[in-house]
Amino acid sequence: MAPDSPPLLKVTNLVKLFPVKKGVFGKVVGHVHAVDGVTFAVMKGETLGLVGESGCGKTTVGRALLRLVQPTSGSVVFNGKEVTKLPSYQLRSMRKRMQIVFQDPYSSLDPRMTIERIVGEGFAIHGPPKGAKDPNIARRERIHDLIEQVGLSHDHLSRLPHEFSGGQRQRIALARALALDPDFVVLDEPTSALDVSVQAQALNLLKRLQGKFGLSYLFISHDLSVVGHMSDRIAVMYLGRIVELAPADVFLRHALHPYTQALIASIPIPDPKMRKDRKGIEGEVPSPTNPPKGCRFHPRCTLAMDMCRTKEPVMAEVEPGHFVACHLCAKA
Ligand code: SF4
Repeated sequence: MAPDSPPLLKVTNLVKLFPVKKGVFGKVVGHVHAVDGVTFAVMKGETLGLVGESGCGKTTVGRALLRLVQPTSGSVVFNGKEVTKLPSYQLRSMRKRMQIVFQDPYSSLDPRMTIERIVGEGFAIHGPPKGAKDPNIARRERIHDLIEQVGLSHDHLSRLPHEFSGGQRQRIALARALALDPDFVVLDEPTSALDVSVQAQALNLLKRLQGKFGLSYLFISHDLSVVGHMSDRIAVMYLGRIVELAPADVFLRHALHPYTQALIASIPIPDPKMRKDRKGIEGEVPSPTNPPKGCRFHPRCTLAMDMCRTKEPVMAEVEPGHFVACHLCAKA
Protein backbone atom coordinates (compact mmCIF):
# COMPACT_ATOMS: atom_id res chain seq x y z
CA MET A 1 0.00 0.00 0.00
CA ALA A 2 1.36 3.42 -0.97
CA PRO A 3 1.57 5.71 2.08
CA ASP A 4 -0.68 8.31 0.43
CA SER A 5 -3.24 5.84 -0.97
CA PRO A 6 -6.83 6.65 -0.01
CA PRO A 7 -8.42 4.63 2.80
CA LEU A 8 -10.53 1.61 1.89
CA LEU A 9 -13.13 2.74 4.44
CA LYS A 10 -13.69 6.25 5.75
CA VAL A 11 -16.18 6.90 8.53
CA THR A 12 -17.07 10.49 9.42
CA ASN A 13 -19.24 11.67 12.31
CA LEU A 14 -21.21 8.43 12.44
CA VAL A 15 -24.24 8.66 14.75
CA LYS A 16 -26.71 5.96 15.77
CA LEU A 17 -29.49 6.84 18.20
CA PHE A 18 -32.05 4.25 19.32
CA PRO A 19 -35.41 5.65 20.45
CA VAL A 20 -36.61 4.89 23.99
CA LYS A 21 -40.39 4.35 23.91
CA LYS A 22 -42.85 4.33 26.79
CA GLY A 23 -46.56 3.84 27.35
CA VAL A 24 -49.24 2.03 25.34
CA PHE A 25 -48.80 4.42 22.40
CA GLY A 26 -45.03 3.92 22.29
CA LYS A 27 -44.27 7.61 22.77
CA VAL A 28 -40.57 8.40 22.23
CA VAL A 29 -39.27 9.76 25.54
CA GLY A 30 -35.56 9.83 24.80
CA HIS A 31 -32.74 8.26 22.84
CA VAL A 32 -29.91 5.85 23.57
CA HIS A 33 -26.77 7.51 22.18
CA ALA A 34 -25.16 4.24 21.08
CA VAL A 35 -22.73 5.88 18.62
CA ASP A 36 -22.30 9.62 18.84
CA GLY A 37 -19.97 11.20 16.28
CA VAL A 38 -17.40 8.51 15.46
CA THR A 39 -14.68 9.23 12.87
CA PHE A 40 -11.94 6.85 11.66
CA ALA A 41 -10.48 5.26 8.53
CA VAL A 42 -9.28 1.75 7.64
CA MET A 43 -6.50 1.35 5.07
CA LYS A 44 -6.19 -1.53 2.63
CA GLY A 45 -4.69 -4.61 4.31
CA GLU A 46 -4.86 -2.99 7.75
CA THR A 47 -6.42 -4.21 11.01
CA LEU A 48 -7.99 -1.44 13.05
CA GLY A 49 -8.79 -2.59 16.59
CA LEU A 50 -11.85 -1.07 18.26
CA VAL A 51 -11.85 -1.57 22.00
CA GLY A 52 -13.96 -0.51 24.97
CA GLU A 53 -16.15 -1.79 27.79
CA SER A 54 -19.47 -3.53 27.10
CA GLY A 55 -22.13 -1.06 26.00
CA CYS A 56 -19.69 1.56 24.65
CA GLY A 57 -21.17 1.26 21.12
CA LYS A 58 -18.42 -0.68 19.33
CA THR A 59 -20.73 -3.45 18.06
CA THR A 60 -23.23 -0.85 16.82
CA VAL A 61 -20.41 0.83 14.86
CA GLY A 62 -19.59 -2.50 13.14
CA ARG A 63 -23.22 -3.09 12.24
CA ALA A 64 -23.83 0.47 11.07
CA LEU A 65 -20.90 0.20 8.61
CA LEU A 66 -22.71 -2.63 6.80
CA ARG A 67 -26.10 -0.99 7.36
CA LEU A 68 -27.31 -3.93 9.40
CA VAL A 69 -28.56 -1.04 11.50
CA GLN A 70 -29.31 2.18 9.63
CA PRO A 71 -27.08 5.06 10.85
CA THR A 72 -28.97 8.13 12.13
CA SER A 73 -26.45 10.44 10.45
CA GLY A 74 -22.86 10.61 9.29
CA SER A 75 -20.93 9.22 6.37
CA VAL A 76 -19.46 5.78 5.56
CA VAL A 77 -17.42 5.79 2.35
CA PHE A 78 -16.25 2.36 1.18
CA ASN A 79 -14.12 2.04 -1.96
CA GLY A 80 -15.12 5.60 -2.85
CA LYS A 81 -18.89 5.01 -2.49
CA GLU A 82 -21.19 6.46 0.17
CA VAL A 83 -22.74 3.39 1.83
CA THR A 84 -25.35 5.21 3.94
CA LYS A 85 -27.24 6.46 0.88
CA LEU A 86 -27.01 3.42 -1.41
CA PRO A 87 -30.34 2.08 -2.70
CA SER A 88 -31.02 -1.51 -1.64
CA TYR A 89 -30.02 -3.14 -4.96
CA GLN A 90 -26.58 -1.45 -4.84
CA LEU A 91 -26.22 -2.14 -1.13
CA ARG A 92 -26.62 -5.82 -1.86
CA SER A 93 -23.66 -5.89 -4.23
CA MET A 94 -21.62 -3.69 -1.84
CA ARG A 95 -22.17 -6.30 0.89
CA LYS A 96 -20.21 -8.82 -1.20
CA ARG A 97 -17.15 -6.69 -0.48
CA MET A 98 -17.97 -6.04 3.20
CA GLN A 99 -18.65 -8.98 5.49
CA ILE A 100 -19.10 -9.60 9.21
CA VAL A 101 -18.27 -12.45 11.60
CA PHE A 102 -20.48 -12.33 14.69
CA GLN A 103 -19.48 -12.94 18.27
CA ASP A 104 -21.64 -15.96 18.98
CA PRO A 105 -20.92 -18.94 16.71
CA TYR A 106 -23.84 -20.82 18.33
CA SER A 107 -26.57 -18.44 17.12
CA SER A 108 -25.01 -17.15 13.89
CA LEU A 109 -25.27 -20.48 12.01
CA ASP A 110 -28.70 -21.84 11.00
CA PRO A 111 -29.02 -25.17 12.90
CA ARG A 112 -31.07 -26.76 10.07
CA MET A 113 -28.58 -26.07 7.27
CA THR A 114 -25.63 -28.28 6.36
CA ILE A 115 -22.19 -26.67 6.44
CA GLU A 116 -22.07 -26.80 2.64
CA ARG A 117 -25.26 -24.74 2.41
CA ILE A 118 -24.10 -22.31 5.08
CA VAL A 119 -20.73 -21.64 3.41
CA GLY A 120 -22.40 -21.42 -0.01
CA GLU A 121 -25.25 -19.13 1.16
CA GLY A 122 -23.67 -16.10 -0.52
CA PHE A 123 -23.67 -17.81 -3.93
CA ALA A 124 -27.41 -18.50 -3.61
CA ILE A 125 -27.96 -14.74 -3.15
CA HIS A 126 -25.26 -13.19 -5.36
CA GLY A 127 -24.73 -15.91 -7.99
CA PRO A 128 -21.86 -18.39 -8.53
CA PRO A 129 -18.14 -17.44 -8.45
CA LYS A 130 -17.02 -15.15 -11.29
CA GLY A 131 -15.95 -16.66 -14.64
CA ALA A 132 -17.50 -20.07 -13.87
CA LYS A 133 -18.36 -22.19 -16.92
CA ASP A 134 -20.34 -24.65 -14.85
CA PRO A 135 -21.81 -22.73 -11.88
CA ASN A 136 -22.42 -25.86 -9.78
CA ILE A 137 -18.88 -27.19 -10.17
CA ALA A 138 -17.36 -23.75 -9.53
CA ARG A 139 -19.51 -23.27 -6.44
CA ARG A 140 -18.58 -26.69 -5.07
CA GLU A 141 -14.86 -26.20 -5.76
CA ARG A 142 -14.94 -22.80 -4.03
CA ILE A 143 -16.71 -24.24 -0.95
CA HIS A 144 -14.17 -27.10 -0.76
CA ASP A 145 -11.30 -24.63 -1.04
CA LEU A 146 -12.76 -22.36 1.67
CA ILE A 147 -13.36 -25.19 4.13
CA GLU A 148 -9.73 -26.29 3.68
CA GLN A 149 -8.51 -22.70 4.11
CA VAL A 150 -10.15 -22.53 7.55
CA GLY A 151 -8.65 -25.86 8.62
CA LEU A 152 -11.68 -28.17 8.26
CA SER A 153 -12.15 -31.09 5.88
CA HIS A 154 -14.54 -31.94 3.04
CA ASP A 155 -16.20 -34.58 5.27
CA HIS A 156 -17.51 -31.77 7.46
CA LEU A 157 -19.60 -30.26 4.66
CA SER A 158 -22.53 -32.67 5.00
CA ARG A 159 -22.84 -32.18 8.77
CA LEU A 160 -25.01 -29.80 10.82
CA PRO A 161 -23.72 -26.99 13.10
CA HIS A 162 -24.57 -28.79 16.38
CA GLU A 163 -21.91 -31.42 15.53
CA PHE A 164 -19.12 -28.84 15.89
CA SER A 165 -17.30 -27.14 18.78
CA GLY A 166 -17.37 -23.33 19.23
CA GLY A 167 -13.94 -22.95 17.60
CA GLN A 168 -14.97 -25.04 14.59
CA ARG A 169 -18.22 -23.07 14.23
CA GLN A 170 -16.29 -19.82 14.16
CA ARG A 171 -14.12 -21.28 11.38
CA ILE A 172 -17.30 -22.12 9.43
CA ALA A 173 -18.59 -18.55 9.96
CA LEU A 174 -15.27 -17.26 8.65
CA ALA A 175 -15.45 -19.51 5.55
CA ARG A 176 -18.95 -18.12 4.88
CA ALA A 177 -17.71 -14.54 5.27
CA LEU A 178 -14.85 -15.15 2.81
CA ALA A 179 -16.94 -16.98 0.17
CA LEU A 180 -17.65 -13.86 -1.89
CA ASP A 181 -14.06 -12.65 -1.82
CA PRO A 182 -14.58 -9.54 0.37
CA ASP A 183 -12.07 -6.69 0.85
CA PHE A 184 -13.19 -5.81 4.36
CA VAL A 185 -14.43 -7.92 7.29
CA VAL A 186 -15.89 -6.72 10.58
CA LEU A 187 -14.81 -9.19 13.27
CA ASP A 188 -17.17 -8.61 16.18
CA GLU A 189 -15.57 -10.20 19.27
CA PRO A 190 -14.72 -13.25 17.12
CA THR A 191 -12.91 -15.14 19.88
CA SER A 192 -14.69 -14.06 23.06
CA ALA A 193 -17.08 -17.06 23.05
CA LEU A 194 -14.20 -19.52 22.56
CA ASP A 195 -12.15 -21.43 25.14
CA VAL A 196 -8.78 -19.81 25.81
CA SER A 197 -7.09 -22.91 24.36
CA VAL A 198 -8.62 -22.35 20.91
CA GLN A 199 -8.53 -18.52 20.91
CA ALA A 200 -4.88 -18.41 19.82
CA GLN A 201 -5.56 -20.82 16.94
CA ALA A 202 -8.49 -18.68 15.75
CA LEU A 203 -6.42 -15.46 15.94
CA ASN A 204 -3.55 -17.04 14.01
CA LEU A 205 -6.01 -18.27 11.38
CA LEU A 206 -7.42 -14.73 11.00
CA LYS A 207 -3.90 -13.35 10.51
CA ARG A 208 -2.98 -16.02 7.99
CA LEU A 209 -6.14 -15.45 5.94
CA GLN A 210 -5.58 -11.69 6.04
CA GLY A 211 -2.08 -12.15 4.56
CA LYS A 212 -3.31 -14.60 1.95
CA PHE A 213 -6.36 -12.64 0.74
CA GLY A 214 -5.19 -9.06 1.44
CA LEU A 215 -8.14 -8.42 3.77
CA SER A 216 -8.77 -5.35 5.90
CA TYR A 217 -10.29 -5.97 9.33
CA LEU A 218 -12.19 -3.95 11.89
CA PHE A 219 -11.41 -6.05 14.95
CA ILE A 220 -13.91 -5.32 17.74
CA SER A 221 -13.14 -6.57 21.24
CA HIS A 222 -13.30 -5.66 24.92
CA ASP A 223 -9.98 -7.51 25.42
CA LEU A 224 -7.08 -5.10 24.96
CA SER A 225 -4.42 -7.82 25.01
CA VAL A 226 -6.10 -9.60 22.05
CA VAL A 227 -6.61 -6.31 20.19
CA GLY A 228 -2.95 -5.40 20.80
CA HIS A 229 -1.85 -8.71 19.28
CA MET A 230 -4.05 -8.37 16.18
CA SER A 231 -4.09 -4.69 15.27
CA ASP A 232 -1.97 -2.22 13.31
CA ARG A 233 -3.79 0.71 14.92
CA ILE A 234 -6.15 0.81 17.90
CA ALA A 235 -9.13 3.07 18.65
CA VAL A 236 -10.68 3.26 22.12
CA MET A 237 -14.40 3.93 22.49
CA TYR A 238 -16.12 5.30 25.55
CA LEU A 239 -19.86 5.94 25.75
CA GLY A 240 -20.38 6.26 21.98
CA ARG A 241 -17.23 8.27 21.17
CA ILE A 242 -13.65 7.48 20.19
CA VAL A 243 -11.37 8.98 22.85
CA GLU A 244 -7.95 7.82 21.60
CA LEU A 245 -6.56 6.39 18.36
CA ALA A 246 -2.93 5.42 17.74
CA PRO A 247 -0.63 2.89 16.06
CA ALA A 248 -0.65 -0.30 18.20
CA ASP A 249 2.98 -0.02 19.39
CA VAL A 250 2.57 3.65 20.40
CA PHE A 251 -0.73 2.86 22.04
CA LEU A 252 0.56 0.12 24.34
CA ARG A 253 3.74 2.09 25.29
CA HIS A 254 2.42 5.61 25.43
CA ALA A 255 -1.35 5.79 25.89
CA LEU A 256 -2.35 9.29 27.00
CA HIS A 257 -6.08 9.27 27.71
CA PRO A 258 -6.84 8.44 31.37
CA TYR A 259 -9.50 5.92 30.25
CA THR A 260 -7.04 4.11 27.96
CA GLN A 261 -4.44 4.10 30.72
CA ALA A 262 -6.98 2.53 33.08
CA LEU A 263 -7.91 -0.10 30.48
CA ILE A 264 -4.25 -1.00 29.98
CA ALA A 265 -3.80 -1.19 33.75
CA SER A 266 -6.69 -3.68 33.86
CA ILE A 267 -4.94 -6.19 31.56
CA PRO A 268 -4.28 -9.24 33.76
CA ILE A 269 -0.58 -9.91 34.44
CA PRO A 270 0.82 -13.04 36.06
CA ASP A 271 3.15 -11.27 38.56
CA PRO A 272 1.26 -10.67 41.88
CA LYS A 273 3.86 -8.07 43.07
CA MET A 274 3.22 -5.86 40.04
CA ARG A 275 -0.53 -6.28 40.36
CA LYS A 276 -0.55 -4.31 43.67
CA ASP A 277 0.77 -1.13 42.00
CA ARG A 278 -1.69 -1.10 39.15
CA LYS A 279 -4.95 0.84 39.37
CA GLY A 280 -7.82 -0.37 37.21
CA ILE A 281 -10.90 1.58 36.29
CA GLU A 282 -13.51 2.34 38.95
CA GLY A 283 -17.24 3.06 38.84
CA GLU A 284 -19.94 2.20 36.33
CA VAL A 285 -20.38 3.45 32.78
CA PRO A 286 -23.05 6.24 32.89
CA SER A 287 -26.32 5.67 31.03
CA PRO A 288 -26.04 6.27 27.27
CA THR A 289 -29.58 7.75 27.33
CA ASN A 290 -28.26 10.67 29.33
CA PRO A 291 -24.49 10.96 28.81
CA PRO A 292 -22.63 13.34 31.17
CA LYS A 293 -22.00 16.92 30.01
CA GLY A 294 -18.46 18.00 29.18
CA CYS A 295 -16.07 15.05 29.00
CA ARG A 296 -18.16 11.88 29.15
CA PHE A 297 -15.48 10.19 31.24
CA HIS A 298 -15.33 12.89 33.94
CA PRO A 299 -17.46 11.07 36.59
CA ARG A 300 -14.88 8.24 36.62
CA CYS A 301 -11.71 10.18 35.85
CA THR A 302 -9.29 10.64 38.76
CA LEU A 303 -7.66 13.59 36.94
CA ALA A 304 -10.88 15.49 36.16
CA MET A 305 -10.69 19.30 36.38
CA ASP A 306 -13.50 21.89 36.54
CA MET A 307 -13.49 22.46 32.79
CA CYS A 308 -13.97 18.69 32.21
CA ARG A 309 -17.49 18.97 33.68
CA THR A 310 -18.62 21.63 31.22
CA LYS A 311 -16.45 21.57 28.10
CA GLU A 312 -16.24 18.59 25.80
CA PRO A 313 -12.66 17.79 24.69
CA VAL A 314 -12.07 17.48 20.93
CA MET A 315 -9.77 14.99 19.19
CA ALA A 316 -6.30 16.46 18.66
CA GLU A 317 -3.22 14.94 17.02
CA VAL A 318 -0.55 14.91 19.75
CA GLU A 319 2.10 13.16 17.64
CA PRO A 320 1.95 11.77 14.08
CA GLY A 321 -0.98 9.37 13.86
CA HIS A 322 -1.79 9.60 17.61
CA PHE A 323 -5.11 11.32 18.39
CA VAL A 324 -6.51 11.98 21.88
CA ALA A 325 -9.65 13.72 23.18
CA CYS A 326 -8.66 14.98 26.65
CA HIS A 327 -8.17 18.50 28.04
CA LEU A 328 -4.94 17.41 29.74
CA CYS A 329 -3.37 16.50 26.38
CA ALA A 330 -4.62 19.71 24.77
CA LYS A 331 -2.86 21.69 27.55
CA ALA A 332 0.47 19.82 27.24
FE1 SF4 B 1 -10.24 13.17 32.53
FE2 SF4 B 1 -10.75 15.72 31.90
FE3 SF4 B 1 -9.26 14.25 30.28
FE4 SF4 B 1 -11.86 13.80 30.50
S1 SF4 B 1 -10.92 15.64 29.68
S2 SF4 B 1 -10.27 12.27 30.49
S3 SF4 B 1 -12.21 14.18 32.66
S4 SF4 B 1 -8.77 14.86 32.39
